[in-house]
Amino acid sequence: MVAKKDNKDMLSAAEIKEIKKHLLALKEDATKRLQNTKQMDMPEVEVGDPIDDASKSLDKEILFELSSNAHNTIEQIEAALRKIDKGIYGTCEYCRKPIGKKRMKALPFARYCINCQHTNEHHSR
Ligand SMILES: [Zn+2]
Repeated sequence: MVAKKDNKDMLSAAEIKEIKKHLLALKEDATKRLQNTKQMDMPEVEVGDPIDDASKSLDKEILFELSSNAHNTIEQIEAALRKIDKGIYGTCEYCRKPIGKKRMKALPFARYCINCQHTNEHHSR
């Protein structure tokens, strides 16, 4: 007999399949965003007035933010997909305990359980 308590936080194969689909969609989305920001970042040929230049450099900063965010997202999604393939998805990378269904569904590329996430945040300060 398997105690129900042990399975409560474990994701079923069907749930992981759903999450994988979701992750792949998120990755596609982030990839598109990255391509869009790259296209928008093409060098400008025309020379504008100073006000225009100022707003352009601000645009560039926002673009940089966007593309680095998209990069991070893609990396995190790929790491999560690798974990699914290895069969360790939903397990905390630090304490190896199940992260918990609720958290995995809210944050499909979470790497740590809530406890370890907090611990790591404190350590990095
Ligand atoms: Zn943990």
